[in-house]
Amino acid sequence: MTNLPDGIQRREFDGRQRLATRGQPVYGEPTDGEWRCWDAGRSKLGAMLEAGMEIDLVGGEGVLYLGAASGTTVSHVADFAGPTYAVEFAPRPMGDLLDVAEARNNLFPLLKDARKPDTYSHIVESDLDVLVQDVATRGQARVAVDNARFLTDDGQLLLAIKARSEDVTADPETVFDSVCDELTEAYEIIDRQRLASHDDHLGVVARKR
Ligand code: SAM
Repeated sequence: MTNLPDGIQRREFDGRQRLATRGQPVYGEPTDGEWRCWDAGRSKLGAMLEAGMEIDLVGGEGVLYLGAASGTTVSHVADFAGPTYAVEFAPRPMGDLLDVAEARNNLFPLLKDARKPDTYSHIVESDLDVLVQDVATRGQARVAVDNARFLTDDGQLLLAIKARSEDVTADPETVFDSVCDELTEAYEIIDRQRLASHDDHLGVVARKR
């Protein structure tokens, strides 16, 4: 079961109960006063929370987010979390991410390659509570394993695996099993679920060993 902090609430938008965080709108999402709808159709982490995966959040966590893109999901994370380091290697979305960070003084965008954690280890703390990863690149398990160094003992990994990024021809379930296998080098898998609103993706919750 998902444990949610006060900073993530279920509120009604368009006649439906949906997740929401409190902060400045980012991607045209519906709002209700200070609350902004967290669109699970546009966010794999949102979909993992909606699916009731075994995620344990209390609010104020230190977070490393890999694959931040333009900031759709990481903006929601920064709304309820503490220091949130957002790694993205593509310069174009980084411009948007910098705008998102303007309104959030706990969000720190880093134009870095998540496969090279040495290049940001002097900036990012090494006792973070949560690693969120959505990089859609080959070698997703290796990225998660190599970045486990930033997590505190028993810190959580919240990972979206895209099967096609590993192998376009292979059966997705085979790819997911192989990625999860490789993750066990650094993590214990707590929960895994296919994400209904995101074709070809597996959500994984794991704890650092
Ligand atoms: N997580 C985002 C969200 O929900 O708002 C969407 C992320 S998008 C699916 C994947 C992103 O990962 C892309 O912006 C891509 O540039 C980035 N990415 C892929 N490989 C990366 C790497 N090695 N280091 C950093 N970013 C990477």
